[in-house]
Amino acid sequence: MDVRVRYAPSPTGLQHIGGIRTALFNYFFAKANGGKFILRVEDTDRERYSDESLEDLYSTLDWLGIKWDEGPVVGGPYGPYIQSERFDLYKEYAEKLVEMGKAYYCFCTPERLEEVRKQQVESKSEYQGYDRHCAHLSDSEIKENLRQGIKPVIRFRVPTEGKTTFHDILMGDISRRNRDISPDPILLKSDGFPTYHLANVVDDHLMHITHIMRAQEWIPSGPLHVLLYEAFGWDVPQYCHLPMVMGKDGQKLSKRHGSTAVRDFRAKGYLPEAILNYVTLVGWSLDGSTEFFSKEALEKCFTMEGIHKSPAVFDYKKLDWFNGQYIRQADNDRLASLIAPYLQEAGYMHKPLTEEESALLSRIVPPVKERMKVLSDAVPLTSFLFEDRPVEDKAVYVAKGSDEASTAAALSRGSAILLSGLKSGEEESSIEEKLSALASELGIKVNGVFQPIRVAITNSTVSLPLFDSIRLLGIDETERRLIRADKLFEEN
Ligand code: GLU
Ligand code: ZN
Repeated sequence: MDVRVRYAPSPTGLQHIGGIRTALFNYFFAKANGGKFILRVEDTDRERYSDESLEDLYSTLDWLGIKWDEGPVVGGPYGPYIQSERFDLYKEYAEKLVEMGKAYYCFCTPERLEEVRKQQVESKSEYQGYDRHCAHLSDSEIKENLRQGIKPVIRFRVPTEGKTTFHDILMGDISRRNRDISPDPILLKSDGFPTYHLANVVDDHLMHITHIMRAQEWIPSGPLHVLLYEAFGWDVPQYCHLPMVMGKDGQKLSKRHGSTAVRDFRAKGYLPEAILNYVTLVGWSLDGSTEFFSKEALEKCFTMEGIHKSPAVFDYKKLDWFNGQYIRQADNDRLASLIAPYLQEAGYMHKPLTEEESALLSRIVPPVKERMKVLSDAVPLTSFLFEDRPVEDKAVYVAKGSDEASTAAALSRGSAILLSGLKSGEEESSIEEKLSALASELGIKVNGVFQPIRVAITNSTVSLPLFDSIRLLGIDETERRLIRADKLFEEN
């Protein structure tokens, strides 16, 4: 069997971690099985549709390097792949079901439906939903209604007896009594627009989809979809509902946990390969231990068997760790071009970069890449080079376990050691040793000497390694800042 899978998002919001996870699983499953990955835009809900989300869908997949074999833009043999361009088709298939007696016209007014609903609530009726008022209209009643110009919806005739079972590769058989399936859902609205259920089933069939991998939220729709396939006389595709994506607290991942939109991660400076790698591990593993996967590797080794049944946790810290690892592996020139926009945005560099700025940037990258979790960290890590905002609060200079007097001594004597060493071209390791010796002489920890010096030079407690900072800043400016800090401690 030729594997054909699809990612079928509705462009009603930004692509988020859960959605992208679905896309990646489908994509890797297709690639690993020599199959096709299809992108289908399910934009039947015109009220919630937005151009922005459609653009976000394309740009996010593009950024991740996920190319679809069939779909919008690239086309394919079963197009169009945007549902709003297929509306005539859904009408045709809904009418087919009406002809077969498996669906029917309903002429009920919104007022009548509201009345029915109210009564069900008031009488606390066990039976909820549409009362099947139009399920058995006679031909002449239907004709009369149509003649009067009443626009009907088309409803699916859900069997009232028996049960429907669908098989899920992960979850096994899932059965539901037919009487518990929402009575007679609308397939086609009165304006001719299909609902999700109809469009989804018709398209999966017409596009020859073999496996449906989608979020577990869709499990409740499963029985209805199976009934629809059966009503049409079509084969039911294989289902594999993916484990939920949770936050660390066990709640469904949402904005309460942090950003979930891929666009936000991108803006903060996560690398696409880190997102792709980590998100694929949310609910999937190869052997329970391998953590690093390139896109190319996953295109070969992804298996459906590796998908977990239980809910998966999205851990922001773990993603940060992955991102840091990928940043350290990344090519320096690439990093320079990725960091530049952040420095330009901060007003530190021009757009386009001047020649000097380019040169400085390539000197910045090697030390910065060792310290960044996300690319935007480049700004706080290098701000000391572009703006000089000295720390006025003495407490910031004082390391844990040290005090103000020792810090003052560390600054004045440490600066002298450092500057004379730098000016005479002494080895860095030897300067470091002398600074450590000073710490023991003062009876404080090494950091008691290094921290005030670092804060003096970089105006911050989070910074690049000392000698890297000095090299970037230059000895003269380093000296000026050390003297300034020394004065701060001499006052009063
Ligand atoms: N359009 C649905 C969604 O946004 C697709 C569900 C499915 O894959 O069947 O999630
Ligand atoms: Zn009706």
